[in-house]
Amino acid sequence: MFVKVAIDLALDRLFTYSVPVELTEKLLVGQLLRVPFSGRIARGFAMAVETEPPSFKTKPVLSIEDESPFFSPALLKLVKWIAGYYAAPIETTLRAALPAAVLKPSAKPKELLFVEPGDPAAGAKFSARQQELLNDIRRVGGGWMQQLVREFRTTPSTLKALAGKGALVIAPRVSRRDPLAGRRVMPTQPLPLGDEQAAALATIMDMCHAPAPRRPVLLHGVTGSGKTEVYLQAIAQVLDEGRDAIVLVPEISLTPQTVRRFAGRFGDKVAVLHSALSDGERYDEWHRIRTGEARVVVGPRSAVFAPVRRLGLIVVDEEHDPSYKQDESPRYHARDVAAVRASLEDAVAVLGSATPSLETWLNAQSGKFALAALPSRVAGRSLPAVHLVNMEQQAERTGRAPIFSDFLLDAIHLRLERGEQTILFLNRRGFSRVLECGDCGWVAECPDCSVPYTYHQADNCLRCHVCGGWIHVPPQCPNCHSKEFSYTGIGTQRAEAALKRCFQHARVLRMDADSTSRKYAHDDILSAFRAGKADVLLGTQMIAKGLDFPNVTLVGVLNADTSLHRPDPRASERTYQLLAQVSGRAGRAEKPGEVYIQTFDPEVPAIAAAASDKGFDGFARQELLDRREAYLPPYCRMAELLFRAKDIARAQSWAELYAKSLGSWAAKFNAAHGGAELFRVSEAAEAPLAKAEGWFRFQVVVRAPASKDIVSAVKWLQAQRPAPKDLRVSFDVDAQDLC
Ligand code: ADP
Ligand code: ZN
Ligand code: ZN
Repeated sequence: MFVKVAIDLALDRLFTYSVPVELTEKLLVGQLLRVPFSGRIARGFAMAVETEPPSFKTKPVLSIEDESPFFSPALLKLVKWIAGYYAAPIETTLRAALPAAVLKPSAKPKELLFVEPGDPAAGAKFSARQQELLNDIRRVGGGWMQQLVREFRTTPSTLKALAGKGALVIAPRVSRRDPLAGRRVMPTQPLPLGDEQAAALATIMDMCHAPAPRRPVLLHGVTGSGKTEVYLQAIAQVLDEGRDAIVLVPEISLTPQTVRRFAGRFGDKVAVLHSALSDGERYDEWHRIRTGEARVVVGPRSAVFAPVRRLGLIVVDEEHDPSYKQDESPRYHARDVAAVRASLEDAVAVLGSATPSLETWLNAQSGKFALAALPSRVAGRSLPAVHLVNMEQQAERTGRAPIFSDFLLDAIHLRLERGEQTILFLNRRGFSRVLECGDCGWVAECPDCSVPYTYHQADNCLRCHVCGGWIHVPPQCPNCHSKEFSYTGIGTQRAEAALKRCFQHARVLRMDADSTSRKYAHDDILSAFRAGKADVLLGTQMIAKGLDFPNVTLVGVLNADTSLHRPDPRASERTYQLLAQVSGRAGRAEKPGEVYIQTFDPEVPAIAAAASDKGFDGFARQELLDRREAYLPPYCRMAELLFRAKDIARAQSWAELYAKSLGSWAAKFNAAHGGAELFRVSEAAEAPLAKAEGWFRFQVVVRAPASKDIVSAVKWLQAQRPAPKDLRVSFDVDAQDLC
């Protein structure tokens, strides 16, 4: 018997070893093996088992590191699919699919002493103090030795003495590191579903019971339509049928609030995987999933690899969210991986959103995906009334655009009087608080990245939001020595100050990357707001999604335009999504909501659509026409090649070389496919973010009918012209944003 092994050195090839007789019974694919590798011992995963000997001489496997496989056969298939589709090395992909903590010896659980009540030997005598202690321990049912010693003010030797008389049983036990420990989770019961919710649930369950292959289901529900309740009830049924579920949520909305909704319904069966877990917690959660103790997994994109045993349902909440795309190799999109995994394991993928990606929307229109719609909010609540405020007109009267229009100020005032809450949304933290010289126009820019510094008032310094570098505000303009600086643009801090000037008694909470750098700060701010300890929550993208505050009746968007002018084919889609999501925070309970969107471009389709009653469908129809016209996704596949070098000429010349060679490939491809311009290669161009952390960046964008067409072209080229050491080339299949 022979085994093909992936060795953890990113070599992107498999090595064949022979399997010694004593291991043939035990060896399984997915196991971690120890093998000899260029004069030392290496660890690697068993990828495939073969009976035919290879044509070359093989060395034997040394041992099996852990008998239970880290990857099921289905997960291995998924990993291979990702490595192929996204052109990533297999070892890198394996590493992305398995939390590093799981392989760390230091993360293994430790055994601690656990004390339980026992049966005292006949005739055993106890002092009054001992009897009291025994009663206490019986009452709580036992516990960790350390805990009991602390809680009942006793000593380990007292407990051991009692164990000697049989009154207690002390034994080592593995302690679980529980990320939810100490959090109060209220159990919840299923809510009676509205008609639309019931129909959506039926669509999902019908798909679960349909013969394979089962199509993914798009759950298109407006904000506040009760999508989560539908997921919860679908998961409950799937669990009843003996299968497991994974719920993916965007990184930013993996808040304790979200976790509580799942833990409240499924208790201990829920495992949480998120980036803030300690190695120990991650290790334990992963093992709880693998052993089948946890059967509902909630986590960000990497949770798509959770080793549940019998996958029945995989939910991708807010499926349009950009955080599902990994921005390093393997550059996978968790939504697409979820759909592939579901099909490999005969499960159903449910993609939920109020503002689906156009890729998913087109799939639902064509029937490739099933569609379940929740067009109205729960319990007959209405969607908020959305008003556009033309800031151009506001500027005409006073000469410059204010941060807050009169309309918005009046609306906030009304909420303060009524004791209702307001959410104010500002695109991007500290956005374009740029330091500019009033005399010569010089702008303070990060020397390592091609972006202006952002001014931070709190510590009077200039920070780069790309590399994190910072400097003090210079005493004078380095160009003309003028001391007349102006600070253009609006940042969250400035908006907060302006708001406090207008409403001296308003209680304002600010939420952005600066105010939430402390652990739990995120949760603390939201809890305070929910508890009514503030009137206004002012924040960036962080507050756009998922939040459900019943007393919020007003949402204001201070600057709708800022995400519109990005050099990104999805800029318009992103703008619409953001506006619709943030608007959706208003009027979610009994009291109706109202939204003011401040914009300089009220005619732009993405912004006009956010205020129109045609909703998402209207926006999507127009946007799809535009995309088809321009040959952009979802009507083609798009990939980006990014060339980075410390030397600008190197980066540029390599990008040009690649663009040229790919151009000839494209010409041949198109000729072979009837002459239409199906395979298109852009010119080599400076990336919109032209320099980051000292590296110059050039890009080439490739479009073709299928990703595999692009991948074969790029692989061919990379084999012909491997990049030299001073150059970094990254290849992003299904690139989401071109910055
Ligand atoms: P979405 O995820 O679609 O934005 P949520 O699932 O957050 O919506 O639901 C919005 C609110 O409506 C939540 O407070 C939720 O508890 C409540 N809700 C959902 N379904 C029902 C129902 N069938 N009956 C009553 N309330 C519901
Ligand atoms: Zn100057
Ligand atoms: Zn920088």
